[in-house]
Amino acid sequence: MDAASADRGKPLPALEGLAGEFYRWGAQGELRFQRCSGCGRYRHVPRELCAHCGSPKWVWEGSSGRGKVFSWTVVERPLHPAFAGDAPYAPVIVELDEGVRMLSRVLDCAPDELSIGMAVEVAFSRVTDELYLPCFRRSEV
Ligand SMILES: [Zn+2]
Repeated sequence: MDAASADRGKPLPALEGLAGEFYRWGAQGELRFQRCSGCGRYRHVPRELCAHCGSPKWVWEGSSGRGKVFSWTVVERPLHPAFAGDAPYAPVIVELDEGVRMLSRVLDCAPDELSIGMAVEVAFSRVTDELYLPCFRRSEV
C-alpha cells in the first residue's frame, strides 16, 4: 500500500492562511518556521503575533530539520476510524534545534523503540501532490 492510499480517509490540514504557507514549504522539501523579527525566536504553530514580544513582524526561516524526541504517547485505540490500521502508533513531540516543538511521528520506529532525547531529522511524507507532512526519522547524530 502506498502512502497516499494508506492515508485515504484521514483528516488533512486546511491548506490556507499561515498553515497553508507552512505546508507549501513542505511540498518543496523545506521545513520552515516563522521567526520573529522583534526578538528572534522561532515559533510553531503559525500565528500572526509573537507570543513572547507581541511583534507582528516575522519571516519564514529554514530549519536544520534536526531535533530530539521531547515526548510521545501511544495510541492503542484511535478515535478516528481512518487511523485504525495504524494502531498502535505514537504521536511524538519533537523539539527542533531552533527551539520549537512540533507534533509529528517518527517513521519506521515502533513506539517501544522511542526514547526521550532520541536524535531525529525531518523526512517529508507525501500525502497528496500538495501536502507533504513533516515527519521524522532516527538520526545518527
Ligand atoms: Zn518576538
